[in-house]
Amino acid sequence: MSFEFDAVASLLKCPGCGASLIQADQSLVCANPEHRFSFPILDGIPQLLAEEALELSVDEWSSLGSVELNQQD
Ligand SMILES: [Zn+2]
Repeated sequence: MSFEFDAVASLLKCPGCGASLIQADQSLVCANPEHRFSFPILDGIPQLLAEEALELSVDEWSSLGSVELNQQD
């Protein structure tokens, strides 16, 4: 069973703040610039648990800035 990120990406929200999530290499990153949690993807499955998340620094988060933020509320 493979996880099709594209199929569900629009459904995924940050469990911490409800913002949309950006796909990075092996993680999903909260699009909220004041939250910046990074959730690992293990075996193709995003681990959307606060205990598994890393909070990125502003610099780290900004470095993902090439990723387009499709902010929709
Ligand atoms: Zn968040």
